[in-house]
Amino acid sequence: MENTPSPVWVIAEQIDCRILAVSFQLISQARKLADELGTSVEVVLLGDQLDGQTQPLFAAGADRVYLGNAPDLAFYQPEVYTEIIVSLAQEQQPEIVLISSTAVGRELAPLVAARLGTGLTAHCIDLVLDENKTLEQRVPAYGGLISIVCPEKRPQMATVAKGVFPTPALDDGRTGEVVPLEVPTDLPRRIQTLEIVREEPEGVPLESAPIVVAAGAGAGDLEGWRQIAELAKVLNAALGCTRPAVDEGWAGLETMIGQSGKMVSPELYIGVGLSGELQHTAGIAEAQIMVAINNDPKSPVFEQVDYGIVDDCRQFVPVLIDKIKEYQENKLGGGVFLHIGGPASLASVVHQRKRKNDNEL
Ligand SMILES: Cc1cc2nc3c(=O)[nH]c(=O)nc-3n(C[C@H](O)[C@H](O)[C@H](O)COP(=O)(O)OP(=O)(O)OC[C@H]3O[C@@H](n4cnc5c(N)ncnc54)[C@H](O)[C@@H]3O)c2cc1C
Repeated sequence: MENTPSPVWVIAEQIDCRILAVSFQLISQARKLADELGTSVEVVLLGDQLDGQTQPLFAAGADRVYLGNAPDLAFYQPEVYTEIIVSLAQEQQPEIVLISSTAVGRELAPLVAARLGTGLTAHCIDLVLDENKTLEQRVPAYGGLISIVCPEKRPQMATVAKGVFPTPALDDGRTGEVVPLEVPTDLPRRIQTLEIVREEPEGVPLESAPIVVAAGAGAGDLEGWRQIAELAKVLNAALGCTRPAVDEGWAGLETMIGQSGKMVSPELYIGVGLSGELQHTAGIAEAQIMVAINNDPKSPVFEQVDYGIVDDCRQFVPVLIDKIKEYQENKLGGGVFLHIGGPASLASVVHQRKRKNDNEL
């Protein structure tokens, strides 16, 4: 009898019965991997009142959906969700399991991986198969991209953030099989989600902002951070940051851009006091025009941006804010950046246009 290769799984995520975009993006990548492996794409979807939500999953590339549809699953419950996924995985033996790098996925993936006794690579920015059809899970490290493989244990597990893979065009003609899951009533309940209270983010949301200002360690202190926040405000931009800004307590984790933060795709990105480490720039690969302000002319960030400004951001940013305000008040013509200069700032504007292509990111 011919052996059917084990399937590629995606653990889909929904909020208020709406499946998240990242789940469709993962299904699309799972489809590519499954086609290369000669196997199927299977999706696990847990929640309540999800009838009617399976068709888009097939349209995105799934062949089968395991559907856990019960009031007990309405909210993400770590122990219950883990138990259901682990039991099913032990029975079905998937080859690969992909989970989104959302708040839920970041918790669920390690719980499932630990129970299955397998490896997990967090925050991958690419997933490909090597010549042995083993999953290369690519993450930024050591100033470049490294591939992590899990050659012995199965499934091979990875988390991936929203925006790493494109959202697929839906093929409404595709159908598949829905397999209803029995939801046991005696599942562990030491932790229970009773209610979800949504916090509305302040200002412009990072993921959809046309302009993003990102602040890095070079901000120096809270005062420097506030200056950069003011720059974002006058530009009506979303304010993002690098890891050190979070570590210093200037910003919340939800504003971090990069491999383990958010992916942004603004028309204009301005990075202030940051070095352009790949873990950060992985999150800005889709930005159209990129500008960096850094006091070190040799900073690697200048290799990646379209325009580089070599200056101390503590001196330069206040001048820039004044110039932008002046421009806005007087509706002056011409580019703001090219008219900067003044007693406090000897900004040198370097036209670079040397940005590496996205494949090198
Ligand atoms: C697994 C893993 C995941 C990670 N995920 C992320 C992620 O998602 N996002 C992220 O951002 N990081 C992430 N990091 C951290 C990342 O590797 C870098 O450490 C971080 O991005 C560096 O931040 P930075 O550029 O602000 O700081 P630095 O690298 O310290 O750079 C500061 C820059 O500011 C400049 N500077 C200093 N003073 C001034 C001044 N007065 N004016 C102007 N410029 C000045 C300096 O020249 C320097 O270039 C991750 C790391 C790991 C290991």
